[in-house]
Formats: sequence, structure tokens, C-alpha cells
Amino acid sequence: MSVAERLAAVRAQIAKACADAGRSVDSVRLVAVSKGHPSPAIREAYAAGQRVFGENYAQELRDKAEELADLVDIEWHFLGPVQTNKVKYLVPRTRLLHTLDRVELAEALSARLAKEHATLDALVEVNIGREPQKHGVLPDDVPALVEKVRGVPHLRVVGLMCIPPAEDAESARPHFAALRSLSTKTGLGVLSMGMSGDFPVAVAEGATIVRVGTAIFGERPRRG
Ligand SMILES: *Cc1c(COP(=O)(O)O)cnc(C)c1O
Repeated sequence: MSVAERLAAVRAQIAKACADAGRSVDSVRLVAVSKGHPSPAIREAYAAGQRVFGENYAQELRDKAEELADLVDIEWHFLGPVQTNKVKYLVPRTRLLHTLDRVELAEALSARLAKEHATLDALVEVNIGREPQKHGVLPDDVPALVEKVRGVPHLRVVGLMCIPPAEDAESARPHFAALRSLSTKTGLGVLSMGMSGDFPVAVAEGATIVRVGTAIFGERPRRG
């Protein structure tokens, strides 16, 4: 199947999950996760109508944004862990950062944003399964981080993101539900959850953004 065909299949699954949940199809945004895939694959998805793309490595985002600079309305999201010395590659190209996890990162971003006269929306990455090896803030620590970042200029926290323990889609459901309830508690409306293996379940549980890579672009080449 071509990228265009796989993209159409993913969009159809999102539409069905929305219909089943009584949600409008416009209430879910699809981020096509293009990490590890070359720019021509992104052009293919763009030609099929996709506008939002997600990357995980700062220099890879910078390089692709330069190669694809002619696609003027393309929108880049950043999904990977961020080292503070890499924020220069992300600002001002990134529209939404999904992985804010500490105040120091917010401050580093803010300094760069000031320099570029730009602003940035961000999601707090939540370690929803409380897994020791995972990135993100523990659920209990989310309100304190949100409160601290509220005072940081140029950066606005608009929601939450999670990567639940990787098992099957159904076992992710309670984690998605927990992220949703945390978002209600903190008053942050954007919910980034759901990947190739479980995005219909995430939509059923209230995702407003799903991040889908493999189901659109195929298996990623190994990162060398
Ligand atoms: C790679 C990645 C995805 C996409 O994963 P697939 O299983 O290929 O859909 C989504 N979110 C994050 C944070 C990722 O790193």
C-alpha cells in the first residue's frame, strides 16, 4: 500500500472511532509521525492532504524543515525528549512540543523564544504508567509543574501527552482514561495520546491528538 492509501485507512479508522464515541471527526487531529523516514515520504503524505508531522530528534527536524521549506503550511510537532542545548533547532520551527517535562526546559525554550520573537504551545508529558524507565512527569507532580511553567513567558501549556505501557490496545485504555481525568482536573484541554497500535482506543477515551507513524509510513528503517 502507498503512503496515501495507508493515510486514508488511518483517517477512516479515526472517523469510525469518532462516530462510535459520538464525537465530531474535527475534534481529533492526526500527527503523522515521520521520524526515521526521508523527506520524500513526507511529501507523499502532504500531497495526500496531511499537514501535521511529528519528529523525535532535534537535528532531524531542523534538516527536514529546511528540505521541505517549500511546503509553506506544513506544521511540525516535536515528540522526543529535549536536551536544553538543542532548543535552538526546535525554535521557532515547532508549533507544538509534546514533551515538556521540567521547568529548566521551559526556561531554556523561553529564552530562545524571546530571541526569536516567537511563542510556543506545549504539552506536559506524563509518565502515566509510573514506569521507572520512562520519560515524563509522574501524575501527582503535574499540577506543580503546570503552576511553575505558568509564570514562564512565551511558552503556554495547553495540554497533556502520554505513552502508556506498551502492551495491547485494551490494556492502554485505563491509562488513557487516567490522562483524561488528569486533564479535567488541571483544566488543560489538549490530550495527545494514541499511536499506531492503539489510536482508536485513545479516541474512544477522549484523545484530541493522535500520533501515528508506522500505520502511515510503514516500519521505520533502523536508526544508525
Ligand atoms: C514514534 C512515536 C510515535 C509513533 O509510533 P508508531 O507506533 O509508529 O505509530 C508516537 N509518539 C511518540 C512519542 C513516538 O516517539
